[in-house]
Order: sequence, then structure tokens, then C-alpha cells
Amino acid sequence: MTKHYDLIVIGGGSGGLSVAERAARYGARCALIEGGRLGGTCVNVGCVPKKVMWYAAHLAHALDDAPGYGFRLDYFDFDWRKLKIARDRFVGEINDWYQGYLAEAGVELVRGFARFVNARTLDVDGERFSAHHIVIATGGRPRIPDLPGAEFGITSDGFFELEACPPRIAIAGGGYIAVELAGMLHTLGAEVTLLVRKGEVLRTFDAAIREELMLRLRQDGINVVTRTEIRAVARLAKGALNLHCAGRDKPLETDTLLWAIGRIPNTDTLNLGAANVKLNADGTIPTDPYQNTDVPQIYALGDIAERFHLTPVAIAAGRRLADRLFGQQPERRLAYENIPSVVFSHPPIGTIGLTEEEARAHHGEAVRVYQTRFRPMYHAFTARPTHTLMKLVCVGPEEKIVGCHLIGEGVDEMLQGFAVAVRMGATKRDFDDTVAIHPTSAEELVTMR
Ligand SMILES: Cc1cc2nc3c(=O)[nH]c(=O)nc-3n(C[C@H](O)[C@H](O)[C@H](O)COP(=O)(O)OP(=O)(O)OC[C@H]3O[C@@H](n4cnc5c(N)ncnc54)[C@H](O)[C@@H]3O)c2cc1C
Repeated sequence: MTKHYDLIVIGGGSGGLSVAERAARYGARCALIEGGRLGGTCVNVGCVPKKVMWYAAHLAHALDDAPGYGFRLDYFDFDWRKLKIARDRFVGEINDWYQGYLAEAGVELVRGFARFVNARTLDVDGERFSAHHIVIATGGRPRIPDLPGAEFGITSDGFFELEACPPRIAIAGGGYIAVELAGMLHTLGAEVTLLVRKGEVLRTFDAAIREELMLRLRQDGINVVTRTEIRAVARLAKGALNLHCAGRDKPLETDTLLWAIGRIPNTDTLNLGAANVKLNADGTIPTDPYQNTDVPQIYALGDIAERFHLTPVAIAAGRRLADRLFGQQPERRLAYENIPSVVFSHPPIGTIGLTEEEARAHHGEAVRVYQTRFRPMYHAFTARPTHTLMKLVCVGPEEKIVGCHLIGEGVDEMLQGFAVAVRMGATKRDFDDTVAIHPTSAEELVTMR
């Protein structure tokens, strides 16, 4: 017998949980189908455990810096395994919490992997479920390339299973996950080589941020190798790996290889052909700004859709979709402009809006850029030559701020408030007219000349 609902959500990650919960609160009869752990990528193998590791690395830096402030630390040790146990427990508690959250909201949880039977019906291990509306929020998984020996490498999922810090690790990739993991592993004691296919990391970011980050990575002691690509991986008798890379005569020996070369959307197991849902060439699902796919009453959101693969984007898109379908707000949708984001590098990066290059391409001569680079007061007493760089991209005679790009200590927490201002259409004058908070790094954003 087929069980029928107003809404079925496939995937219990950031996007799926938010749309199901909001819809149920409007009174919709909802089921959520999840084949893995509740919370999806963010909670289990993404943002949450990663931020725990970033905090650990941040503390390691603070311990390094402490002697400059008069502390004498004769000995300190780091117990990776102890942290992993605490981190796994923390993640487990969030998984449990989500179970209660769904039950409390009145969402029925179906355990298993869903496949389409037709545009209204799903199969989960032989059981049939149908709904008036179906949301696909199945996220993605790390990509492993198809080359000899690739299986000897781990991915970001495997990073969270490591029981100890590898003595030597090579990370393939130049995106934010590669950069973040490289920074954490290096700070926590690994010898890190970052293998980047192009000439630089974080290719979509503003050039000033990219250059500052590259400088930082190299000054910190991360071996960044650009314009290279792994062609084959061989396991050596003693357990280490040899990486054969394009453009290098000798193989690179490492203990661990981590692939951070992108993610594959989880559309391949959904049998989407049965529902006639079209896919992009990369496996993501094309949607309009309202999360509609090209099949009526089937929607896609989060990492499975084309835009901005971030947890708050998936959540916001999910909640707005529920508002639209069940909350009598027919025009409600997520505005995909001015999405702020942070890279948890060392130091972190915060960015919103257009890069200088994008602004010049759109607005030409009307663009004016303000930029500052300084050594924050904190680092006047440390041995690390870390700088902060801030850039405002403004447009037109009123100097509307269309981009804000930051790298430096504390910018991860700084950006959120400035993102509100940018979203509200703040001008350079608004920033100038805001009284500074002193002494902080953030005050530089309202005192730029
Ligand atoms: C290492 C890493 C670090 C990250 N750090 C950040 C960060 O700091 N900040 C940030 O905003 N974002 C971060 N992200 C991205 C963020 O995790 C994703 O954007 C977010 O989780 C996407 O949510 P989602 O709901 O689209 O998919 P997911 O969270 O991936 O959830 C999809 C769910 O669908 C389930 N599923 C798949 N197929 C089926 C099926 N057929 N049937 C039933 N269930 C199925 C999966 O088991 C999974 O639980 C990070 C990602 C990674 C990998």
C-alpha cells in the first residue's frame, strides 16, 4: 500500500530538515526520507566537525603566540584522539537532537534511500510513498578521480575518521575545503603539501584575498605546489604513498593523500529518469529561483541545486520554499545575491558580493576600490607576521558597496554584521559615518580612505 503525504522530502541534511520542519509547522502532512545520519554533510562530515578542528588549530596558534605576551609554556602536548572522541560525541548528540526535532514538529521519519517510481511516487526498500509535493535535497559526496591508485587516498569524509594526525599529508585541490584542511593539519602538526591544478587557490575569490592567502600559506610552511595534477598513486612497501604528478620528474612521497577536488551530487541513485527530472551535465538539478525543477511539484535545493553550496543557503531556501507552498506567501524565495561566506583558513576569510574583477566587468569605470593592509595589534607581540587585508568594492557616484572582502584574525565573526549593511544597500558614506569601535581590527572597515 502507498502512504500519501502533502510533502515528502528526500534527504535529512540542512536543506531537507528545514523545509520539512517549516512545512509541518504550517500543518502539512510531511515525511522525510534519510538513508544516512540525520544532519547530513554539515553536521556529520562538514561544517560542525570541521569547526571543532579549526578551533583546535586556533588554540595551537594561541599557544604559539602566548610567549610574546609573557607566558612561559615549557611543555604542551596535543591528543588528537581525545579530541576526536569528544567531537564524535558532540556530533552524535546533534544527530539525536534532530530526531527529537522532527518528532516534535510532527514530521514522519522514513529510514532508507529513496528512488523515484514516477513523478509522484517513491520507493524505499520496497515500500511506496506518494506526495503532492516532493523536495529533492540529497546533497553530494566527495569526488575521487578515476586514475591508477586513487583509492589509496582519503577524502574530507576520511579526514574525520583519522585517529591521529598524519606525519605527512598531500592534499589535492585548491577550493575552500582543501585550504581549510591544509591549514588545520599543518597547525596541528602535519607536514602538508597542497597540490593545486591551477596557478592559485580559491579561484572565485577576489584577487587581493587570493594573493594574501597564498602568501600566508607559504609563510606558515605549507608546501603549495601549483600547476600540477596527480596522474597516478602507488603504495610503497613501507605503507607510504608515491604520487606521480604532471610536470614533476620525481614522485612525491607522503603518508596520506587527501582528495579535495570537488563533490558529486547525489542524483545518480534517485532514478530521476522515472520522474523526467532533467539534470545538468555535472549532475546537479537545474531550478528556477523558486527551487522549481522542470517537473511540476518537484523541487530541488541545497547542494543538489546549482548555486552556493553552503548550509545557511540550503536552510534559507528550504524555509522559503515551505513558506511559499504551505504558508500562503506565493512570491517567497531566496535572493541569491549577496550571500556572505567564510573560509576557515588561518587566518580566516570573509567575503560578500562582487569581487573587484566582477564589479569592473559589470560597471567599468564606475568602480572605486578601497583597500587596507595592516598588522593587527595582537600580532605586534607574536612571532607570526600575519596581516589583515580588507577591501571594499564600491560603485557609482554614491559609492554603493557591492563587495566586501576580508582576510585576517576575527573576520569570520566580523562579516555577518557588515553583510546586513551590504544587503541593505549601504554606501561608503554610511560606513564613514559609523563611529568606529576602538581598538579593534573591524574599525578599519569604517575608517578607510
Ligand atoms: C568538509 C566540508 C566542510 C564544510 N564547511 C562548511 C561551512 O563551514 N559552512 C557552510 O555553510 N557549509 C559548509 N559545507 C557545505 C555544507 O555542508 C553543505 O552545503 C550542506 O550540508 C548542504 O546541505 P544539503 O541539505 O543540500 O545536503 P546534505 O547536508 O549533504 O544532506 C543530504 C542528505 O541526503 C541523504 N541522501 C542522499 N541520497 C538519498 C536518498 N536517495 N534517499 C534518502 N536520503 C538520501 C544523505 O544521506 C544526506 O544526509 C561544508 C562541506 C564539507 C564537505
